[in-house]
Amino acid sequence: NTFAEIDLGDALNQNIRRCKYVKPTPVQRHAIPISLAGRDLMACAQTGSGKTAAFCFPIISGIMKGGHFVQKPPGSRTAFPLALILSPTRELSVQIHEEAKKFAFQTGVRVVVAYGGAPINQQFREMERGVDILVATPGRLVDLLERARVSLQMIRYLALDEADRMLDMGFEPQIRKIVEQMDMPQRGMRQTMLFSATFPKEIQRLASDFLSNYIFLAV
Ligand code: AMP
Repeated sequence: NTFAEIDLGDALNQNIRRCKYVKPTPVQRHAIPISLAGRDLMACAQTGSGKTAAFCFPIISGIMKGGHFVQKPPGSRTAFPLALILSPTRELSVQIHEEAKKFAFQTGVRVVVAYGGAPINQQFREMERGVDILVATPGRLVDLLERARVSLQMIRYLALDEADRMLDMGFEPQIRKIVEQMDMPQRGMRQTMLFSATFPKEIQRLASDFLSNYIFLAV
């Protein structure tokens, strides 16, 4: 019933204490062990449930335990993130980025955010400094992929936050385009977490297309 009981590693546990999180929320208590065990997950989670930490902790912990930070080839302008968090809006992306940076403090894991409606050049510069976890809105990410500023070939963790809202906003074609790029060349190496408040058939179809042998969590 405490974070210390979950095997997240010392650095992350220290940051959790810094954030003054004492007890995991229900979605965290169940989702984090499932993700740490390597299983795909579809979770029912509302705003305020603590879902951001629920997908960030296993990602940060996994990247640290994997120990394989990707070195950008010198002179290359393409970033190779290990984790991608897709969110529907600029506001939510900024919020996730702020939280994720606190969780990743002094871990060596670098988090960068990219969203539309803001100058892309500044986001290029941030990414050129390296990115392990990319938080992005679907439209802007497609743009970055088309400009070859990001490659998804090294993605090990994918989190879809507020998936129902992304579909309501018409992002399904972009999301599909994004995930297609991930499936090559190493299918099956990716771990996927889908968070949504509602589960219409469109979400269930997305889950059956993107998740493998997943656990459905409703808390
Ligand atoms: P979220 O649902 O991820 O947007 O989180 C809602 C709010 O709860 C945020 O301000 C978090 O920082 C906070 N929060 C998340 N998990 C915990 C926790 N285990 N203990 C205390 N606060 C938390």
